[in-house]
Amino acid sequence: MHELSIAASIVEAVTESAAAYPGARVTKVRLRVGALASIVEDALQFCWDLASEGTPLAGAALVIKMLPVIVHCDACGADFEIEGVQTLRCPRCGQLAAGISQGRELEIESIELEEPEIAEPKMHQAKPVEEQA
Ligand SMILES: [Zn+2]
Repeated sequence: MHELSIAASIVEAVTESAAAYPGARVTKVRLRVGALASIVEDALQFCWDLASEGTPLAGAALVIKMLPVIVHCDACGADFEIEGVQTLRCPRCGQLAAGISQGRELEIESIELEEPEIAEPKMHQAKPVEEQA
């Protein structure tokens, strides 16, 4: 099940991005997955829960957007959606399509964060005062 290693690398990438916002909690991660990335959505959801458990991302929702395969025809310039890679023939002009222009994606589209309670402006952050004995 390669979804587990994918989930783990998403957790890692999101944790890195979220590090720029100290104290913020990740609530939602949106993912774009191409139909050719050979990912089973349910399996990835399941693995996401496992991979995020015990990390700052625990409880964050993973929203997976599945993208259909889109093939581009060089002959007539058409972009068309296909069910599988068996038919790479352009439905408009019948030429063999040049290449797959969408379908292999596996990328983090966005991350939603919950801001921590309003922090004091950093400039005025006082050092802890030690009580005089
Ligand atoms: Zn065509």
